[in-house]
Amino acid sequence: MADCLFCNIVARKIPAQIVFENDHVVAFKDIRPMAPTHALVIPKKHVAGIHEIEAEDAGLLGQVLLAARDVAEKLGLNNGGYRLVINQGPDAGQSVFHLHCHVLGGRPMAWPPG
Ligand code: AMP
Ligand code: ZN
Repeated sequence: MADCLFCNIVARKIPAQIVFENDHVVAFKDIRPMAPTHALVIPKKHVAGIHEIEAEDAGLLGQVLLAARDVAEKLGLNNGGYRLVINQGPDAGQSVFHLHCHVLGGRPMAWPPG
């Protein structure tokens, strides 16, 4: 999608600090980090959010989560642990409508989340 920020990051039309890439996903540092380590994992294919995913794209969700695990490992979060977050819709504060999984770590996280 030409006017989608994250599609433009996939296409390298908008710069990002890419930390991981494979055939299915790209991961890059969040521009406004909420933790010492904060990356986003996105499918290369445009999907607006977790709620919009079609059954035929279920495999993409697995790719995103496996990549999130690999990104956490690569960024050194495996010992302390990390949190994966997918925001959906206004109550969750979703602000970019291309599915993304936040990988947050490097500090203890509160529960319940804010
Ligand atoms: P969400 O609120 O779950 O939709 O998360 C969107 C995330 O994208 C936020 O954490 C933003 O800081 C992040 N973000 C927005 N624009 C960029 C960008 N150009 N590069 C990296 N991260 C971005
Ligand atoms: Zn997109």
